[in-house]
Amino acid sequence: MKPNFLIESLTSCSGCISTMISLDIFPQFLDKVNLVRCSFMRDENNISENDIALIEGCVSEEKQIDILKNIRSKSKRVIALGTCAAFGGMLALSTVKEAEPISNYIEVDGIIPGCPPPSKLLGNCIIRLLENKEIILPEKNVCADCEFRTDNIESKFMKRINKLMPREYNLDIENKDKRCFLERGILCLGPITRDGCESKCIKLNLPCDGCMGPIKNDFTSNAINFLSTVNLAKGLRKYKGIFYRYSKPKTKR
Ligand code: SF4
Ligand code: SF4
Repeated sequence: MKPNFLIESLTSCSGCISTMISLDIFPQFLDKVNLVRCSFMRDENNISENDIALIEGCVSEEKQIDILKNIRSKSKRVIALGTCAAFGGMLALSTVKEAEPISNYIEVDGIIPGCPPPSKLLGNCIIRLLENKEIILPEKNVCADCEFRTDNIESKFMKRINKLMPREYNLDIENKDKRCFLERGILCLGPITRDGCESKCIKLNLPCDGCMGPIKNDFTSNAINFLSTVNLAKGLRKYKGIFYRYSKPKTKR
């Protein structure tokens, strides 16, 4: 019998569900499941009993809490799809809207991080969910496989960090500076960010800004610890922009 899947979008840019729909395996996914609800693709008022619910987006409105709780009560497993659902996401930078991860309101059985989740990781997670297996996420940080990594990366931490981005963005990948961003005085959150993105930003000569979220605990506590080890120039201490770009501190309700 086909498993019942439900896909819900809360406050989001729809980037996660769009990435999922564009996966090569999405047509096979549709063949293999009974999609009981997908608010992105069609209107459906009912929230039916289901095996797996994938939730995209953060909680920013009261009415979404009822929807979430209803979904939780009807779902065997609930998975946070993307960084907004898992950690709150970049809406947390807003001064007018709240952005809470879904785990602040319901129990969550797994996350698929990323803004949006990288296609390879997302495809593997979907296959595991179809096989009724646990999601497996990388346990390494972005530095682990970074082409700029050197053995003594910790020694780079004390370098004066005075830039958030390379001053001149250089798309000439062949001739780019091959040194670790920290060594170049550019803030890179690779040391505290979960791998799984295949260092796509680094390969494009952009420092990691943490979209995959932390390996353990909440991103803010990791970021605070990390920033206490780097010598961040005063002018760059826009902590909200660094800490809240993809997540807010966890709150207990
Ligand atoms: S995690 Fe990123 S891509 Fe997904 S809904 Fe949020 S902002 Fe959009
Ligand atoms: S800090 Fe950034 S540039 Fe340096 S090794 Fe880690 S991910 Fe690569």
